[in-house]
Amino acid sequence: MSTERPVAADVRAALLDPLRMTSEQTSQLQGEACARCGRMDGLSPGGYAYTSSGKGGRLAHPVRVCRDHRSTGGTQ
Ligand SMILES: [Zn+2]
Repeated sequence: MSTERPVAADVRAALLDPLRMTSEQTSQLQGEACARCGRMDGLSPGGYAYTSSGKGGRLAHPVRVCRDHRSTGGTQ
């Protein structure tokens, strides 16, 4: 029943390694695609995703979500 693509994961759910991100995750991190499902239309601000800084810290990146995931909040 689900129409979501199985390859997409919520980029807000995990600390991302910037050296191991897929091109889709990169698009999500840059706000070009929904942080949850990877759609690229109807986007609005959807919180933050984090990448490892390489020194034990992490960097926050503002991400966007599509209209289907705008109301879900968090990473649910
Ligand atoms: Zn979405």
